[in-house]
Amino acid sequence: MVQQTSTLYLSREALQNNLKFIRKVVGKRPQISLVVKGNAYGHGIETYIPLAEELGMRHFSVFSDYEAKQVQACSTKNSKIMIMGMVDNKNMSWVIRNEIEFFVSDLDRLQHAIKTARRMKKKAKIHLEVETGMNRTGLDPKDFEEVVQLLQKNKSVLDVVGLCTHFAGAESISNYYRIHRQIKKFKKLEILFAEHGITPPVKHAACSAASVSYPQTRMDLVRIGIIQYGFWPSDETFISYINDRKNKKNPLTPILSWESKIMSVKDVPAGEFVGYGDSFLANEPMRIAVVPVGYTNGYSRILSNDSSILVHGKRVGVIGAVNMNLLIIDVSQIPEVRKGDKVVLVGQQGEHTISFASFRKQKDALNYELLARLPENIPRKIIDYV
Ligand SMILES: *Cc1c(COP(=O)(O)O)cnc(C)c1O
Repeated sequence: MVQQTSTLYLSREALQNNLKFIRKVVGKRPQISLVVKGNAYGHGIETYIPLAEELGMRHFSVFSDYEAKQVQACSTKNSKIMIMGMVDNKNMSWVIRNEIEFFVSDLDRLQHAIKTARRMKKKAKIHLEVETGMNRTGLDPKDFEEVVQLLQKNKSVLDVVGLCTHFAGAESISNYYRIHRQIKKFKKLEILFAEHGITPPVKHAACSAASVSYPQTRMDLVRIGIIQYGFWPSDETFISYINDRKNKKNPLTPILSWESKIMSVKDVPAGEFVGYGDSFLANEPMRIAVVPVGYTNGYSRILSNDSSILVHGKRVGVIGAVNMNLLIIDVSQIPEVRKGDKVVLVGQQGEHTISFASFRKQKDALNYELLARLPENIPRKIIDYV
């Protein structure tokens, strides 16, 4: 069941534009894997995968076996699926049977993969995720000998597809030294494995930020998340990219826009508070409209009294607190507003644009989090243009 109080639109043209940009940046060599964890960063896996496949994409990266199942269920082109995070031991046989590739980031998972693959008489397709300095996931150096032995002994049931790592914050220059150390470490490990006869064909490390800012990390495959959706990993990444070029126009276009409809309109006399408590006082007679979108739909309460919405091609303010299912806007300057009129929460109307990025009221809020928190039950629809 989906909620019908608002709709998220995905623009085919915007995605096409972003994919073209990504290919231009990374060059011809690497395969592009689209990272679609977190319900495709909130864009909605069910809608997003067929759209990306229509535009020629055939490789998707997810966090877990659960997400791999979601992608498989809506893929119509037999695309490759790669799990970068969690594989529940009890789902290992499903993963192997469906030829889903997955990161091996500790001994336990390697052992379990081998055991399951032997039982099934089918090869497990693995990527060795090595520890290079992020200190989160990745094969521990102290297990190196044992890993090598297991790989050598179990060649018949293992297809070692990849060697990979992940960077600890390639979107910020303050991590520059650490990232460089990770790159060096990765090269060393690649050589070390090769000396033991292990030469995975697909070496990969780059996320969006690394793909843009550290060309040497592109290798055979890039794992592209945030920029496919039209957002920069950080302002820094954008500025450093644009600094080197003549054309200062942002090459990315956000895919997503968000619309709803006016639920009701009413007049409020001067001197009255609007909504819960006393967070908004009508200093003069006002006309207000109610929009059936609130924090349960991903419109954060932080935006109370502090964001705007587009209606009739004009920008109007959200007044009072954002409620669980409702928000209130000031339409005093647009007397012709009626129940049922379209409102744009995010996107373009007339000469105005509201971006998800403008929701980042607190300095630390990430586009990543804002997007990923969009609820699954808002309907998603594909449109041709932004
Ligand atoms: C999320 C993720 C990515 C993609 O990151 P972006 O910054 O969105 O490009 C790449 N690799 C791994 C392991 C990830 O978890």
